[in-house]
Formats: sequence, structure tokens, C-alpha cells
Amino acid sequence: MTQLEHDHADREALAAAIPMPGTDTPLARELADNARRRIQLTGRQFPKPTSQRVLTVANQKGGVGKTTTTVNVAAALAQSGLKALVIDLDPQGNASTALGIDHHAEVPSIYDVLVDGTPLLDVVQPCTTVENLFCAPATIDLAGAEIELVSLVARESRLQKAIAASAESGHEFDYILIDCPPSLGLLTVNAMVAASEVFIPIQCEYYALEGLSQLLKNIDLVKRHLNPALHVSTILLTMYDGRTRLSAQVADEVREHFPEEVLRTTVPRSVRVSEAPSFGETVMTYDPASSGALAYLEAAGEMADRGAAGPT
Ligand code: ADP
Ligand code: MG
Repeated sequence: MTQLEHDHADREALAAAIPMPGTDTPLARELADNARRRIQLTGRQFPKPTSQRVLTVANQKGGVGKTTTTVNVAAALAQSGLKALVIDLDPQGNASTALGIDHHAEVPSIYDVLVDGTPLLDVVQPCTTVENLFCAPATIDLAGAEIELVSLVARESRLQKAIAASAESGHEFDYILIDCPPSLGLLTVNAMVAASEVFIPIQCEYYALEGLSQLLKNIDLVKRHLNPALHVSTILLTMYDGRTRLSAQVADEVREHFPEEVLRTTVPRSVRVSEAPSFGETVMTYDPASSGALAYLEAAGEMADRGAAGPT
């Protein structure tokens, strides 16, 4: 057995030792469940991917959990021993805020990388609450980039070139997650050219699948014309509400369409998840024992296991 397998066996034994509570007390059941999952998950070291993974977190609907998913999955990967970079490609800069990264107008940002050709590593800042986690912030300048990019050479592949150049300088991240704006413009196209994987968060709500076909169509266009490697590798169901039939129905429907891509873990709707950004923290440090943090840790673990098993 490898060290990782030993560690896994120990955790399973410990988790199995927690007694099963009666099913008549939902709260006790949830607490015991969380305790068991915490032992199974927290402090576990995730395996490295066979090669650097670059994922574009996309969905042209706003408010579906792109930013929340980006920062929390990246934090979970970093806490579990992998080196992770979040590229904030949304002019609103929500990912930068959520990671507690300074992004006022004068800060060197992803705008400088895209428009002026500044090296990516010159704008990357470490996240102070999570070791191994880094962020290329977005400032308000980025709002103009969508238009400024139009007249530049190789306008679709500027982010891809910047990432490739940083890897050549010997600075490799295990995971790069790109947080996209809620549109399918040039910024999102740059993200899709830079990544080989698309990671789609889907909110377990009515109309969840509406607009998905447009996103898939665009992915296909980018694949055919700009980036043959591009594919949807990962789908995460977010804001799942266990009390409604609707959430379960949406989840079933998405799993039926994308059996390979959807992660087993679903992220529950949780107040702690939505509170964390106002403290400049991810839920992974804000409340690591909460059900939201555990879900993101579990989802990140699934992704890491897939990444270690070979090309995804
Ligand atoms: P997007 O980046 O797709 O626009 P966000 O990640 O910003 O979406 O999420 C939209 C809103 O939903 C935010 O206010 C966020 O805090 C909240 N939110 C996201 N995931 C959850 C969750 N699991 N539970 C509760 N609130 C959530
Ligand atoms: Mg966002």
C-alpha cells in the first residue's frame, strides 16, 4: 500500500466508527454525516494530475455559482497539497474579492496580461488565507478589454500564450481555474482557448438547462476553429436544496444528459457559502466544518482523482 492508500484506509476506519443515528432525528443525522465526511476528507492529500490542468469555469447565466465554485474548488485543491491558480476574468472581480486579493484600479491585473502582454506571473498574488493558492486579479479596467481586444493580433489566444509562457519559465501550477464573466464574448473565448477543459456549474433551479445548449454550441465552435482539445470535462450541481423535489429533478435530468461529466458530489445551498466572500475568504477557511465547505472539498477530491487517473 502507498502512503496515500494507508492514509485513506485509516480515515475510512475512523469514519466507520461513528455510530449511525436513528433516522427520526434529521439534525443528529446531518451532524453525524458531516463528522464522518470531515474525517474522510479533511487533511487528505490529493494526488497530482498527470499534467497541468487548465479549466474554464463557464456558464453564460449569471448567479449560477461560477465564482463561488472557482474559488472554493481552487482553495480545496490548494489545502490538499496541490498548487492552484485562479485567473479572474470577470471585470466585476468577484473572485479576487472572495480570495481577499487587492484589486483596486492601480493593481497589476489580468487586463495588463491580455491587453499589454505583461507576463502572467507579474500580476499573480498569493492568497493570504490559503497556502499554495494564487490569484491573477481582475480590476475594473477589464470591462474595457472586451472592446480593446477586438483590434489586437491573435485576440482570441492572448491568455493561452500568457499561460504557456509562464509554464515555460518553469512556474507550473497543478490546477489553473479561470472564472468567466456571464457572457460569451472575447474574454470567455480567451478562457476557452487557454483551457482544454470546461467546468460548468449548474444551479439546481428551474430553467437550469436553459441556455446550456447555447454554451455547448459555443464550446463546439471554439473547438472546431481555435482549440481542438476543448471539451466539457466536469459539471457540478450547485445550490442544491434537499427539501425540494425541483432540485432532485434538475439533478436527475442533468445526470441523465451528462453521466460521465457530472460529479457525484452536489453543493448544498448554504448560508455560510454566501457569507464567506464578504470576509475576503473562501468558505474553506471561513467555516471548514460547514456542509458547503465539505461539499467543495469532496468535489475537488473527485476532480483530483480523475485528473490523477489520466487525461480527463
Ligand atoms: P456567478 O459567478 O455564476 O455569477 P456566484 O458564484 O457569484 O455566481 O453566485 C451567485 C450568488 O449565489 C452569490 O451571492 C453567492 O454567494 C451565492 N451562492 C453561490 N453558491 C451558493 C451556495 N451553495 N449556497 C448559498 N449561496 C450560494
Ligand atoms: Mg461570477
